[in-house]
Parts: sequence; C-alpha cells; structure tokens
Amino acid sequence: MSDKKDVENTSPQTKKGIKQPAKLNPNLANLRRKARKSELSVTDFVEGIQKGDRVRLGQAITLIESTQSNHLAKAQEIIAACLPSSGKSIRIGITGTPGVGKSTFIESFGLHLIQKAKRTAILAIDPSSQVSKGSILGDKTRMAELSQKSEAFIRPSPAGSSLGGVARKTRETIILCEAAGYDTIIVETVGVGQSEVAVHSMVDFFLLLLLPGAGDELQGIKRGVVEMADLLAVNKADGNRLALAKQTRQAYRNALHLFPLKKNKWSPKVLSCSAVERAGMDDIWKTILKFEQQMKESHFFEMNRQEQAKYWFQESIQQQLGQLLHNHPQVKQQLAILEREVATGKKSPFSAAEELIQIFVRES
Ligand code: GDP
Repeated sequence: MSDKKDVENTSPQTKKGIKQPAKLNPNLANLRRKARKSELSVTDFVEGIQKGDRVRLGQAITLIESTQSNHLAKAQEIIAACLPSSGKSIRIGITGTPGVGKSTFIESFGLHLIQKAKRTAILAIDPSSQVSKGSILGDKTRMAELSQKSEAFIRPSPAGSSLGGVARKTRETIILCEAAGYDTIIVETVGVGQSEVAVHSMVDFFLLLLLPGAGDELQGIKRGVVEMADLLAVNKADGNRLALAKQTRQAYRNALHLFPLKKNKWSPKVLSCSAVERAGMDDIWKTILKFEQQMKESHFFEMNRQEQAKYWFQESIQQQLGQLLHNHPQVKQQLAILEREVATGKKSPFSAAEELIQIFVRES
C-alpha cells in the first residue's frame, strides 16, 4: 500500500464487499482547508477581492479584524494594494434609535438598490457589541431577504476594545468592499452616542431615521446627530401612523429652517417612508443621487473625502502612539504609580502625563 494513502481514510481498510467504517477524522479536510486559507498570499487575496470573490473578501476582513500582528501586517498590504481601485462608491451612513426600523429599512432600501443594478455592502459600527450582544445584532436574520442576494454583502460590526478601533476596522473594510466592486456602501450605527461622529467621518451622506410623533430629544437622539444629517426620514409612515408621520415630517422641515446653512450649501431634506411597506425608497435614493451630483459639481465631495482621510491619519497617529506608549515596559511600570499620585492629588494630571512621556522618550 502506498505511503500517500489518504490519511482521512486511516480507519481499518476492509476487503471488497464489506462496509467501510466511518472516517476516523471527518474534520481533517476542514482543518486542511483552514491551514491552506492561512497560507493565502497577499496577491491571492487582492486578486480574489478584485474578482468580486465574496469568500476572499470575508477572509480579508477577518484579517483586518484580527488582533494578531502578522494578520494585521498582511491586512495592511492587502489594503494598500486595493486602495487604487477603491473610492468609487457612494458611502451612506444610517443611524436612528433602536427600534426605529434600521434593519428593516436597510433590507427594503438594499432590495430597491438591487433593482437599480447597484451592488451594496452593508457594514455596521456598534460600540456596544463588545459589552452585550449589542443593539445591532449583525446576524443575517435581520435582513433575511437581502442576505440571500449575491448583489449584497452584509458584515456585522467588528468587535473591539474601543470605538476608535472598531471605526478603523470599518473604514478599512470599506476600501476592500469598494475594490470588490460594491458601488454603494451602507454603514449602520445606533443613534445614541459617539459612534455617529465616527460614522459621519467616513461617509459621504448621512441619513437619520426617526419615529413618527416623538421629537428627537424624546427619541434619545442628540441634537448634534440631527445637525449632522443630510436627510431625515420619518419611518413607519403607514397604517394609523401615516398622518402622524406627515405631521412629524412637517415639524422637522420647520425646525431645520432654523439651522445655519452647512458649509457644503446642502439644505437637509425631510421625507417619510415605510420600511415594512417598502414605500418611499425611491425618493430617498433620488435625494442621495441629487446630493452626490451637487457635491461633485461643487467639488465638495472630493474635498470632504480628503478632509476625512486627514482626520483618520491624525486619529491613527494618536492611536498608534497611544499603543506604543501603553506597551512600553517602563511606562507600564510607572503608569500605576503615577495614576495613584494623580488620584490622591499629589500630582496634577498634566504634569504626570508629561513625566510619563519623558520616560517614554528617554527610554525608547
Ligand atoms: P432597528 O432596531 O432600528 O434595527 O429596528 P428594526 O428594523 O429591528 O425594527 C423594529 C420593529 O419595527 C420591528 O418590529 C419592525 O417590524 C418594525 N418596523 C420597522 N420598520 C417599520 C415600518 O416601516 N412600519 C412599521 N409599521 N413597522 C416597522
């Protein structure tokens, strides 16, 4: 018998006519596949992504999300190679309080976009996902029909130790999705806190979903989030809430007049829709296209992306410096001591920080 006999069939071989016993290790094939996967080269990934291979895209995103330094290094090479073919999409941020209908809306809207021959990637930023299961569950049951479509790519929120980390991963994922040919990128987040600022700084257009009836304060939405929006859509405009939704829409239209005109000269629009009845999707899409056209004509589109890139460059410097600082052995040692001194009022936070940085600079 050859030495090369398939190891998956090492169970006792029998004579002809006798039933073969089950394979000893049915997982071996899977293990081998996994091992092969980790051996994929940067070129394998990049070629796969550029061909629109969703499996390769998913695997590359997993590298971006990894905490292993060799994975991260590989991810950076993949991103660098994908950068030239990225950037050609419209990036849309969607926010709204839990229960407003974000996932139902994205399902309807995504299906509408498919009818318009668009390919949509749906990403999420949910900083609460590392604490609890999160408000954005990210599971595909939320967008059951859309997740079946080959024109849609749905990726749940990455986990991370900080919002900054989660946001970085999502931003890099956008680049890969664009290189894979997705021309519409949706980044979803919950409308309750800091994550909107992060999303706003990586999208071209920001959509805020609202409930009929309640004002934004009552919906737990910060004023700043309303000010960031390019479009407000009152969802659930159906059944006996239709009239109320129209009233709410009018109230917001009146309120927005009081806001100062934005730098980009776009005056935010207010529409209503029903994600369940799939109504109002086309008006929303047309508003986004109008925005895109207007921003491109005024060159604000490009300028905004340049500003965002600079912002993320600064953010990355801060993050990487912070990491270097916190991983430095002498700094680590001194940190706890200084923390105690600051807490007990022996040193001011400013001078303690200065002292720590001096140690870092001296010992590096
Ligand atoms: P999310 O937490 O913002 O993602 O909200 P979901 O999409 O999970 O929706 C919350 C609830 O509102 C679900 O029961 C949906 O069926 C319902 N819902 C979402 N959109 C609409 C809508 O347009 N009309 C009505 N009547 N219900 C809706």
